[in-house]
Amino acid sequence: MTENQSGGKKRFVKRKKDPVSVTELKTGILNGDRSHLAKAITLIESNAEEHYAIGQELLQELLPHTGKSFRIGITGVPGAGKSTFIEQFGEMLCNEGLRVAVLAIDPSSSISGGSILGDKTRMEQLSKNPRAFVRPSPTAGTLGGVHRKTNETLLLCEAAGYDFIIIETVGVGQSEVMVRQMVDFFLLLVITGAGDELQGMKKGIMELADALLVNKADGENKPLAEKTKRELNQILHFLIPATKGWSSKAYTCSSLKNEGLIELWEVIRQFEKQTKEQGVFEERRLDQRQEWFHTMLKERILSDFFFQKSIKSSLPDMEERVKTGDYTTSQAVEVLLKQYKAGIIHMNS
Ligand code: GDP
Repeated sequence: MTENQSGGKKRFVKRKKDPVSVTELKTGILNGDRSHLAKAITLIESNAEEHYAIGQELLQELLPHTGKSFRIGITGVPGAGKSTFIEQFGEMLCNEGLRVAVLAIDPSSSISGGSILGDKTRMEQLSKNPRAFVRPSPTAGTLGGVHRKTNETLLLCEAAGYDFIIIETVGVGQSEVMVRQMVDFFLLLVITGAGDELQGMKKGIMELADALLVNKADGENKPLAEKTKRELNQILHFLIPATKGWSSKAYTCSSLKNEGLIELWEVIRQFEKQTKEQGVFEERRLDQRQEWFHTMLKERILSDFFFQKSIKSSLPDMEERVKTGDYTTSQAVEVLLKQYKAGIIHMNS
């Protein structure tokens, strides 16, 4: 039983016993069953220790069945048309016989507890397509935690046979690098007309993208979108390419009118063909796995450190001492590290 005190009233919520076993989940997922997949993702996203353990066991079992999808990351400022684009693009891929999974990362939920992506019902049409699976952003936890959950969800979707995984994020700066580390192809969605053609267009973000897509190229906005495309292409010419051997370019589309999406699909297919032939695709996947290992290691060490009892109790005192100038920052760090190491020895003896 867990206690829930929402609205000042005490309520008791019965924690359900996990109804399915790892073997059942594994079989269900490998058969492409969406409800088993959703259950497994809930385990992965849960912060409860026992769920984490089951989730990891399941992942281990499914690992040989992962890695076969093509992974795309999509970013753009709120309102750029990401969900409209994904809805149309996803439908197009489904009509070609592919299975598409859409995952979301919402950095705002980790930082402020609020949410830009998660609050509205998104991609309703696509969610109903039997070939598609749309999963909203995991809302709880740090950005590092969201990173782990998204990466592991991606693996589950691959095991469930999704050919195409789309990871969407809001272009507010914190999560683009993270998404880039998880995908094969990274798409930046742009809009014109806000009087600021370079919105969110920091050089760093442009350098992550394999293609820039100027959306809403329809009606009166079309000539402006074409102009923006040309300007972006000029800038791209001088940037370091995101992917070895591939020159990132800008394109236009109208997600609303379903124009320019087939052309983008052609670009992506060309990208896949070229990077696979040149070995760049596999090289990136290997680098990503190594990077992922480092990220997890750091995340684990950090949480181990901050959750250690002795650190928890002396941290406020150390903070105070640093503030008052009693200790230098380096001294305080050393004291805490020594304490941490002593704590580990104590635990193991
Ligand atoms: P997101 O916040 O990036 O996911 O953006 P949405 O997909 O919710 O789109 C924001 C608004 O732009 C909505 O009102 C869409 O109907 C509109 N929109 C999206 N794509 C297009 C497009 O290609 N052309 C036009 N004219 N409007 C679009």
